[in-house]
Formats: sequence, C-alpha cells, structure tokens
Amino acid sequence: MYTSSPRITRVRPELEGLTEYFPGESLEAFSKRTGIPIERLIKLNSNESPYGPLPSVIKALGDYRNYNSYPDADATALRTALSAYTELDCPPTFSLYTSITTFCGASVLEIPRTANYEVDVNRILAALTPSTKLIVLCSPNNPTGNSIAEADVLALLESGRIVVIDEAYIEFSRRPKGLAQLVPNYPNLVVLRSFSKWAGLAGLRIGYGLFPVWIARYMLRAQCPFEVNVAGHIAAIETLAHLERVLADVRCIVQERERLFEMLNSQSYLTPFPSQGNFILARVCDANVMIEQVRTVVEEHGILLRYFQQPSMRDFLRVSVGLPDHTDRLGEALAKI
Ligand SMILES: *Cc1c(COP(=O)(O)O)cnc(C)c1O
Repeated sequence: MYTSSPRITRVRPELEGLTEYFPGESLEAFSKRTGIPIERLIKLNSNESPYGPLPSVIKALGDYRNYNSYPDADATALRTALSAYTELDCPPTFSLYTSITTFCGASVLEIPRTANYEVDVNRILAALTPSTKLIVLCSPNNPTGNSIAEADVLALLESGRIVVIDEAYIEFSRRPKGLAQLVPNYPNLVVLRSFSKWAGLAGLRIGYGLFPVWIARYMLRAQCPFEVNVAGHIAAIETLAHLERVLADVRCIVQERERLFEMLNSQSYLTPFPSQGNFILARVCDANVMIEQVRTVVEEHGILLRYFQQPSMRDFLRVSVGLPDHTDRLGEALAKI
C-alpha cells in the first residue's frame, strides 16, 4: 500500500494543499462507534429529508429497464420538466462543483458575515480585486439558515462579477422561487439548485443550475459527458411530475422547523437562530454547559447532530429538521443536560 505518491508522479500543488471535506457521520459509522443499532438512531446531521423520495419515484426507478444505456446527453425530458418548474426556458446545465475553485488553481477570498450573519455587501465590494471572477453566496445559508436580501444581490451584480447563488434550500424558504426569475435579466447571475434536500434525493446526486446562455455554453464544453446518471434523471422527472405531493412534505418540514425552534429555544443553555432552511443552528450560550457534554448526552440517545471544527463555531450545533417524533426525542435528550 503506497501512502505517498511515488517520486515520478507530480500532483498539482492546488490538490496537494486541499484538505478533505468531512461530511456528517453516516448511520453505519455512528452505529459502529457507539454500539447503538441503526434501527434506533435518529439522523439529524446532514439536512436530509425524513420523508425520502415519493413512493412513485421508487417505483419509477424499479420499473425502468434501460440502465445499460447511457443517459440522454441533452437531458431533454429533465430540462423540459425543470423549465416548467423554474418558469425559465434557458437551458439548465448540470453539475455543481463548489470546492473546485481551489482545485482549479483559483484563490479563495473569504469575506466574513456581520455579527448577525448578514452578508456584508460593502465589505465584499471593497475586497474585490481586478482578478476577482466569482462571488459565491448561499441563500438560505448553511449553517446559519438566513437568506440574502434581493437588494444585496442586485448590488453585487452591479460589480459586473459573476454572482453565484446556491439555492439548495430555497424550497424551504419564505420565497421558494428564489432568484430564478432574475437570471434572464443579467449576464452575470447564476443560480444553483439541488434535489438533495427538499425532494429527498441526496443519495442520487442530482442538481441543476440556471445560467445565462453564454456561461451555459462554456459549462457544456467543460463538463464530463453523462455527469448525471439515468436514475437521477428518472427521480427528478418523477418528482417534478408530482410536485404538489413533494411540496406537502416540504410544508411539513417547514412546520416542524418552527416546533423544533421552540423546543431548542426552551432549553435554557441554547440559543437557536431563525432558519429558512431544513435545519437550525444553535449556540450553547451557558458558560456552565460544554458542547462536548451536549454531544455525549445526545449521542447516548442515538441522535446524530452536526458539530463544527472551526474555532469560531466550536459552541455551535446544527440540527436537521426531522419528523415530529425526532424533535420530541431530541427534546427529551436535551432536557437531561
Ligand atoms: C446540501 C447542500 C447542497 C446540495 O449539495 P448536493 O451536492 O446537491 O447534494 C448545496 N449547497 C449547500 C450549501 C448545501 O448545504
């Protein structure tokens, strides 16, 4: 087993410098670590849907017979369904690569948000250099849960830089159509979306982007062929064909989010932040309570939450919105502290 590259192989310095992304722990790994059987666990650490895909999605995936064939390279059926959903006819382009910036040799400039996690537009504008190409923002933002004001996005668009808005959680927000309708009016606005959270399809890796045509043309040249697999096409098309049923699940999650917020808020040692996503960020605000203690008790109850390594986020935890029973059981665990 070679653990370092042989001398003859040259690894790009950008890749050498990249650190691995640590996703939320899986049920399997948590179960192995704690000895609690998977059936007894509650997974609230990765913003996944507790409802999963629609039953008709599972059926459509099982009924499909042509998995031996490559997907439709033009994704015609999926694009048609997405056009109806987004009310846009510009061709959506697939594949979203976020941490690819560093890999591509670009340097990333991180602009801190304000104390209450608002985007600091003036600070962003002041930090732009002639070589700045992209401004990337999440709305609603993960993990803080707040959305960006449209006026702030418009101010950033005035800079002429390409502004990328990651709307992975937009369906859970107060404005579920997001900024899609602005895309045709600007040469520099890109909106990225995902079926992972609201449609319960995280395991199928299906997302899309809304791009000005000139950018879409370059994206199509740069992407690998068949980046979205056939199962992803089927599941997304089936989801959009039964939109009302998925949106009913989304409404349940939004309703449960407010109940989860009240539950977290009722713990004397926690301060939750209002959220427009399917998760809530909370801070341990009592000097007598350590986050490690919270984690230990919560994990003893078989509940997975998201914790953070960055020094500035050490006292925070993020809870994905689950089923009502999940909120109740988390509440029982938190009340023991
Ligand atoms: C979960 C998430 C996504 C979606 O990622 P996929 O690769 O589509 O599953 C995108 N952006 C943010 C901020 C997220 O939290």
